[in-house]
Amino acid sequence: PPSIRKISEKYDKPFVVGCLEPKVNAPRANAAFVVLARNKELDGVIQTVKSIERHFNRWFHYPYVFLNDGEFNATFKETVLNHTSAAVEWGTISAEHWGFPDWVDPAVAKEGIAKQGDHAIMYGGMESYHHMCRFYSGKFYQHELLQKYEWYWRLEPEIKYFCDITYDPFIHMIRNKKTYGFTIAVKELRETVPNIFRYASAYKRMNNLTSKGLWEMFVEKPKEKEEKAVPTTDPKSKKPTPQEMEDSESIVGKLPEIDPEAMEGESYNMCHFWSNFEIARLDWFRSKEYNDFFELMDRSGGFWMERWGDAPIHSLAAGALLGPGDIHYFRDFGYRHTTIQHCPANAPARQLSRSPYFEKTTLDEKMRREEDAYWATPDPVKENGVGCRCK
Ligand code: GDP
Ligand code: MN
Repeated sequence: PPSIRKISEKYDKPFVVGCLEPKVNAPRANAAFVVLARNKELDGVIQTVKSIERHFNRWFHYPYVFLNDGEFNATFKETVLNHTSAAVEWGTISAEHWGFPDWVDPAVAKEGIAKQGDHAIMYGGMESYHHMCRFYSGKFYQHELLQKYEWYWRLEPEIKYFCDITYDPFIHMIRNKKTYGFTIAVKELRETVPNIFRYASAYKRMNNLTSKGLWEMFVEKPKEKEEKAVPTTDPKSKKPTPQEMEDSESIVGKLPEIDPEAMEGESYNMCHFWSNFEIARLDWFRSKEYNDFFELMDRSGGFWMERWGDAPIHSLAAGALLGPGDIHYFRDFGYRHTTIQHCPANAPARQLSRSPYFEKTTLDEKMRREEDAYWATPDPVKENGVGCRCK
């Protein structure tokens, strides 16, 4: 079989291995950080800004666009400005991009949301969270403050970068003709997306899209299906089991029927790129293909009657529209958001072998030697604070 290294070099090798002296005067991409937040999240936002400034932006000075469905207050703005010398813009989200669209009956949607709350579905009962997920799924890239940008890097409150990023990821994305970059892929909570895959695969089928090789990353393999335990209902818990969720389609009633011909008999393995970190091309989101996908997903009602997150939406769109060569795994970024983290251990072999869409392979002898040699060298952190090894 082809080695991991060959596959990786073919599709998606690391942009940079090791540390560079950051090119502080090199041309920049047309790009910005995008941060959606509320005033009450100021402390978490400052933690994030401190971290990205310390590990990246003090050299690169990319601007920030802060977005909010309300207005940012003076304290919020002043405090953020005290922590960066980069340009900052403040945007309010219009009612058109946040909340129930006019073709939805808010009473029905609110009832659906309340039901998800009763069933203890994570964030299911929180209306604002549903609005946030829909905004990040199909609206953020239409915000007027983002129109001038070609690329964005998503930040959230309470994240931490723990390795220096000494190169410009946007420039490398451009150079390598990449569309979408991620650093963590995890499994979604099944009960938040019982029907999402039916609609995503219907989109793919209805538009005669053949996989470019990424879709398979999201399809449950027959073996996984067999192995999946079917837990019995816990009488003390109102939360439905995964099997019940699948059987009942959705706890709040059926979403509109789709043509069974449009289904391919596959099921979702719940894998998704964790979208609180994203570096991506905005014009992919603005494309007709992406927006047709969003429209089909949106019209199903899944943003209210289920609790579809923007992460599985972005991921399944990537699966339908992109190939492995279009996406980039930032395996060298040390990143943490609340309870989940990615620690790259920047050793060359590990960078190659941790890509989730490549089969796990044992390191060959040569890689093992490189790996050992890497760990035997002194820590490359220099006096000026540049250094990207993470232990
Ligand atoms: P989690 O990471 O899934 O637990 O969700 P978060 O609470 O962190 O929300 C995801 C992102 O959306 C974060 O950037 C939040 O600041 C933002 N967000 C969530 N709900 C709202 C809201 O109602 N208004 C605004 N302005 N931002 C929100
Ligand atoms: Mn968060």
